[in-house]
Amino acid sequence: MSSIQTKAENNPHILVLGMGGTIAGIASNPEDSPLKYEAGQIAVGSLLAHIRSAIPEGIALVSHQVANINSRNLSEPLLSLLGETVRQALDNPMVKGVVLTHGTDTMEETGVFLQLTCGRSAQDLGKRVIITGAMLPSNASKADGPSNLLDAIRWASTPLENCPGGIYAVMDGRGCLAMDLAKRHATDLNAPIQASPSSSVGLINPSWLSGVKAVEAAWLEDLPIPAGNEWPWVEILTSHAGARAETVSHWLDTRVQGLVIAGSGMGGFHDEWAKPLAGATKRGIALVRTTRTGAGTTKQDIPEMDLAGCMASGTLSAPRARIALQLALNAEKQAKLAGKSLTWQDFFARIALLPEFRVRV
Ligand code: ASP
Repeated sequence: MSSIQTKAENNPHILVLGMGGTIAGIASNPEDSPLKYEAGQIAVGSLLAHIRSAIPEGIALVSHQVANINSRNLSEPLLSLLGETVRQALDNPMVKGVVLTHGTDTMEETGVFLQLTCGRSAQDLGKRVIITGAMLPSNASKADGPSNLLDAIRWASTPLENCPGGIYAVMDGRGCLAMDLAKRHATDLNAPIQASPSSSVGLINPSWLSGVKAVEAAWLEDLPIPAGNEWPWVEILTSHAGARAETVSHWLDTRVQGLVIAGSGMGGFHDEWAKPLAGATKRGIALVRTTRTGAGTTKQDIPEMDLAGCMASGTLSAPRARIALQLALNAEKQAKLAGKSLTWQDFFARIALLPEFRVRV
């Protein structure tokens, strides 16, 4: 570590964490094929060096590389490491805010994970964690990473009266709660925020601060971060035309602990699955039902009565519902160890009622 970095660490600063992704990617022939690249090639410190002259005066930065991966390979132990790193940063009085550079493929998972494990602390400590990334590699002529990173740094260091502490995301000049961010287009520069049908929203928009407050009011306690090797095994199964019973029954003789059903329409599933899913609940496999449509709410007992113990996901997409179920199963285990009789359903219900706040113009 350089002496400049050590000095900055002992003074108030913004901590910039690197996880890799396209923002740290390199294309071998950026002029002709900018979309042919390797993600996670450049250190986060170099990304900062590249934008140094544009960083507003008075903002001290410290960088820390948590990982340098293509986020499609994100693992559960890595999420645990990231969660613990963010918690330490929030507890460190010298850290005034946190920026996280991350691949866009699985920002959806990381956003909800950080909200559920660190969101309350960020609010209580009055610090912002801002996730950002890029759709074009760092050496593309129109690389979007530098401006996204600058936006994130500016937002992380904005005075608290303008926006409360919490877990946010910024891409393509627009901001939202990180748990509402999802990649909904394969290549567009605003792909990771596509789900918010907005085109002209500033980073901090007074109209969505009420949504931030609603989440703040509903999220009263962070969930424990599972130890790296103790994440419950949960799979996502998508219902589709021609679905087979074996897709579900295959799991009954495994150690899988939960299944998230990405159902059609309102979260319904093929009749072929009714029997094996009943068998899964009998074996104690946790079931959550969500919709594969990409938007809207999945409600309990709609369109049909749910199997006993099966939970509807509310507005959580399948990847988010999977993380939520894993954290809820882990929270149940920790509660049992502490002599409390809370179930995964108690924890999941708290998550599923979190309001989704989409920016609309
Ligand atoms: N595959 C890349 C990743 O998620 C995509 C990106 O960062 O935009 O790491």
